[in-house]
Amino acid sequence: MALMRALQKRAAGPGLELCEVEVPKIRPDQVLVKIEVAAICGTDLHIYNWDAWSANRLRLPVTIGHEFAGRIVEVGENVTGLSEGMLVTAEGHFTCGRCYYCRTGQGHICDDVKILGVDIDGIFAEYAAIDAENIWPLPDGFDPAVGAVHDPLGNAVHAAYVHGLTGKNVIVTGCGPIGLFCIALARQAGARTIIASDMNEYRRNLAKELGADYVVNGGADDLKSVVRRATGIGADVLLEMSGSRQALASGLGALRKGGAASLLGIFSDNVSMDLDAVIFNQLTLHGINGRRMYDTWFQMQAALEAGLDITPVITHKFKFEEYEEAMALLNSGRCGKVLLIP
Ligand SMILES: [Zn+2]
Ligand SMILES: [Zn+2]
Repeated sequence: MALMRALQKRAAGPGLELCEVEVPKIRPDQVLVKIEVAAICGTDLHIYNWDAWSANRLRLPVTIGHEFAGRIVEVGENVTGLSEGMLVTAEGHFTCGRCYYCRTGQGHICDDVKILGVDIDGIFAEYAAIDAENIWPLPDGFDPAVGAVHDPLGNAVHAAYVHGLTGKNVIVTGCGPIGLFCIALARQAGARTIIASDMNEYRRNLAKELGADYVVNGGADDLKSVVRRATGIGADVLLEMSGSRQALASGLGALRKGGAASLLGIFSDNVSMDLDAVIFNQLTLHGINGRRMYDTWFQMQAALEAGLDITPVITHKFKFEEYEEAMALLNSGRCGKVLLIP
């Protein structure tokens, strides 16, 4: 029996273990992928830190991780259209195919979704078995590092493309990787003005590099007055990526009447907000969950083909055995996207 290295959550509590486990056996409808590049998501950090959500959701042991690019090394007997040697990534949400949402083209909000690296063994491993249906082939010669961040880039595409951004004044609150992707997408779409906010100076500098016209220290500067000065009237669109109650309130407060917001950052507590301001200013709020399958993926492909450059977001690379260093860096926030190389 062949063995491989994998980063697993084996015991309730903070941390991970780098262990030797069996190479997964594929079902007839799966492919086996040799992982070339993995990327660490906020979800992985929650699991590493073992917060309340992780403790409720995970059944152990599980190999974590869901963002990757790798090559197909084995193809299940019922799989068509995929072959050994192809560079691929995958949608990490496995849907039931039978519920109301799946049957009406809304599989991204499936009632019985299973998430790679959360509910089933993930990709912080040398090999992973993935349902062929979820595989997204990448073009020949494609940068595997960019391939590995398709999942969070897709979240940004979903949040940003709910609105037409051409000629619009756009606020991005929260400049982690998904917020930074949003800035690049807004710039590419021809936004008029992009105002980004984050409390972290490292991330504000990245926001500038990705094309933000103004960067605001979410902890200190008054977002509303900066937006007023830059736009005259207030912003058309807010892309809320931080999950911070304060950022949400100041972002909504900086919208013009009739403006709209995408909410993607996850709030750890219940948030009370001024709903009268939403009503009297006639604001529209869009909750964003994952990527539309597979509309968002085709839009992402088109944006990349048109020259979207998100490489400045990818700031660090670690080997598997350096995972503790990588997680500590992520907890510090002094980074963009962090890659793990098996
Ligand atoms: Zn992710
Ligand atoms: Zn379903």
